[in-house]
Amino acid sequence: MLPTTSARTPRSLIPFSVVAVDAIDRAAMNSRLHYLGMAARTAEPMWKLAVLTCMDARLDVHAMLGLRPGDAHVIRNAGGRATSDAIRALAISQAVLGTREVMVIHHTECAVGRFSQHELAERIARATGQAINEDFGTFTDPIEALKEDVGRLRLSPHLAHREKIRGFMYELATSKLSEV
Ligand SMILES: [Zn+2]
Repeated sequence: MLPTTSARTPRSLIPFSVVAVDAIDRAAMNSRLHYLGMAARTAEPMWKLAVLTCMDARLDVHAMLGLRPGDAHVIRNAGGRATSDAIRALAISQAVLGTREVMVIHHTECAVGRFSQHELAERIARATGQAINEDFGTFTDPIEALKEDVGRLRLSPHLAHREKIRGFMYELATSKLSEV
């Protein structure tokens, strides 16, 4: 018979959580909770939370915040800017679907901070052959841009709940989220 882990390692040296729940048991339990969560899921986000963030492909918002399906609204655009479109989504999120808090997350190395309004318009025009006259929400100071977006949401008359609107910066290099 092959020696088991517990036969080779004194039990007192094994962390309690490892003894109590095997990884497989934990995974099976999570799947069960996930199933229950699916069954109980409603259109209203469970956490009553809406997140406004950038479309950057490197940001795994759900993993970063520990969100599961049904927990929160995640609204994304280039830069995570508080555009009229984003505000429209947040207005519905709050008034119709019951969210109460807004988390705005910008990040380092954002393309909207690297290109100018003119550069973006020119690149799109060159690619399509059509002139474009849209505000791309470009910025030079990422912290100021984040503060601007949080401020715009706090002042929006279309948001029913403006007491808990907070801004965060996500640093890609360190995977660190800091409140601004
Ligand atoms: Zn970005």
